[in-house]
Amino acid sequence: MENFSPDVLISEEEIALRIDALAKAISDDFAGQELVVVCVLKGAFMFCSDLIKKIELPINLEFIQVSSYGDGTTSSGSIELKLDLTGSIAGKNVLMVEDIVDTGLTIKSLFEIMELRKPKSLKLASLLFKPDRNVHKMPIDYLGFEIEDKFVIGYGLDYAGRYRELPYVGVLNAGN
Ligand code: 5GP
Repeated sequence: MENFSPDVLISEEEIALRIDALAKAISDDFAGQELVVVCVLKGAFMFCSDLIKKIELPINLEFIQVSSYGDGTTSSGSIELKLDLTGSIAGKNVLMVEDIVDTGLTIKSLFEIMELRKPKSLKLASLLFKPDRNVHKMPIDYLGFEIEDKFVIGYGLDYAGRYRELPYVGVLNAGN
């Protein structure tokens, strides 16, 4: 993998523009209310960070972590809760923030866990969506970009723990 180099798929500027639009929609939809934003670690950390800076609402930020892909590029078929919320979400407006919805297994499982806790509302923001591999049809209320079935890295997304720090979404290509 040392011979792979990232190519830009979605630029920093495109991401910033899209986040402005998503944040405006979220701010309008929840106007006058408070929002619990749940950042799904680790992949959504950069998206969530940039998104909440633009949302004009009082926000309570929480983190959750589940295992999904391990160090490879194929889904394991089940998820494990590794880090849970610190506070109750009962009766609250909750926005889950994901990096990417692929098969939909991760977000479907997370929604099942969250629903049991009786939030007032439960919505999903995802930076990316891969329709080609989607099995569990979860509605994405606030979607950044629909992309082809390629393994993407950067802007929070990793390959074997690397590339999360890139400011753009990229694809790994055989380098020189
Ligand atoms: P799903 O459960 O929807 O199949 O997969 C969701 C999770 O798989 C994401 O949160 C992410 O961690 C990982 N994933 C899916 N596609 C990609 C990809 O193209 N690149 C990276 N880095 N992770 C992915």
